[in-house]
Amino acid sequence: MEFGCIEECADCCIQREYYPNKQFGKIGVLILPEEKERIEELAKLNKIEIKILPRIGISENSNQSPTKILAYQLMGIEENGNTCPFLDTKSKKKSTHGGLPCKIYEVRPLACSAYPLIESTPIMLDQKCKFCKECGSADKNLEFETESLLKIKESMQTNAACIWRYATGIGEQEDYEFIKTGWILEEGI
Ligand code: SF4
Ligand code: SF4
Repeated sequence: MEFGCIEECADCCIQREYYPNKQFGKIGVLILPEEKERIEELAKLNKIEIKILPRIGISENSNQSPTKILAYQLMGIEENGNTCPFLDTKSKKKSTHGGLPCKIYEVRPLACSAYPLIESTPIMLDQKCKFCKECGSADKNLEFETESLLKIKESMQTNAACIWRYATGIGEQEDYEFIKTGWILEEGI
C-alpha cells in the first residue's frame, strides 16, 4: 500500500509523547547537531521563539556527564510539551493535504522528513501516525522518508562506552511527580 498523509492531519506536528517512558518527560523533534544552527536561524527569520534541549549524549565513562551531544530536540510550545513552534496554527493556510502547514516545510528537520518511519529493525512506521491507525501499514511512496532516516542513523552512529538520554522535565501537569530533568545514563559501564 502507498503511504500518504491523511486529509487535514497534523498530528505529528502537535502530539508529543513520553519517550522512552514518563520519567524522561515529553520529547521534542529530533535535531542533529549539524542542523541546530540552521533551525535557530530559521526561527530568528520567522520571529519564532524556540527551545532546543539536548537529547542524546555520549561519554567514555559513566562518572562524567556527556562529552559530546549526538542529538538535540526542538521542544513544543505548549506547557505540556505539545505543538511544534514552526506549525502555522494562525494564518488559516493549509498544507498540501489540508492540515495545518509547517512554516519551514521545504527546509524542515530530517526527523520530520523521515516520519512516520521510526528507528527499528526492520524500519517500521510509527503506529501513532494517523495513516497507520486508519490504513495499517505501507510499503510504497516512502523513499524520501527512508533516505532521511538513514541519514539520521548514520549521523548518530557511535562506539562510545556510555549513552545518556536527557530528561526534558516537560509533560502533563498530573505527571510532574514522575518526570525528571537532566541527563540519565541509559547504557554504559
Ligand atoms: S505523517 Fe501521519 S500523523 Fe503526520 S500528518 Fe501524516 S498522517 Fe498525520
Ligand atoms: S518543523 Fe514543521 S514538519 Fe517538523 S514538527 Fe515542526 S511544524 Fe511539523
